[in-house]
Amino acid sequence: MSKCAICGKEQDPKYRPFCSKRCADVDLNRWLSGGYAIPAAEEDDPDDEVVIGPTSKD
Ligand SMILES: [Zn+2]
Repeated sequence: MSKCAICGKEQDPKYRPFCSKRCADVDLNRWLSGGYAIPAAEEDDPDDEVVIGPTSKD
């Protein structure tokens, strides 16, 4: 017996290979968004900080 590709429940023949329209929509959205979610990897490099030397205060 086949199971829903999204949530693992039993497939509904109307929505194969999914169990419901909802899971079919989930799969569709995955396709539209490139198949997988790309984690936002924004790295702040601390070494890139400009080191300011001692300033002369007047
Ligand atoms: Zn499902």
